[in-house]
Amino acid sequence: MSGKTIFQRIIDKEIPAKIAYEDELCLAFHDVKPQAPVHVLVIPKKPIISIGNLAVEDQALVGHLLLVVKRVADQLGLSGGYRVVANCGPDGGQSVDHLHFHILGGRQMGWPPG
Ligand code: AMP
Repeated sequence: MSGKTIFQRIIDKEIPAKIAYEDELCLAFHDVKPQAPVHVLVIPKKPIISIGNLAVEDQALVGHLLLVVKRVADQLGLSGGYRVVANCGPDGGQSVDHLHFHILGGRQMGWPPG
């Protein structure tokens, strides 16, 4: 049994994912259990656990990830808006220990979140 996270296995192409975008720094793929008509995850290829584990040296990478969020949202036609979520740690509801931004769209979002 490998100690890799499920997202590392997707990066390594060991398990399939419906990929929306990929470059040398990151990957965007559709969530297997979508919470909205559009639900895509944007992840760095660098194995960072969460926002709480970011270092100053990751500044440019995080900027890149957010620009990819915008690019994917545009690509998927979310012209009416969308929500970007990064669950961080147990209290934040994070279930996969590899940094990811959720893009949720295609329906009206509620507030506050659960
Ligand atoms: P979080 O709870 O913020 O850590 O989000 C993890 C997300 O990963 C959840 O929305 C899961 O549905 C999603 N997920 C887990 N395994 C896979 C997979 N193999 N392919 C795509 N999405 C996945």
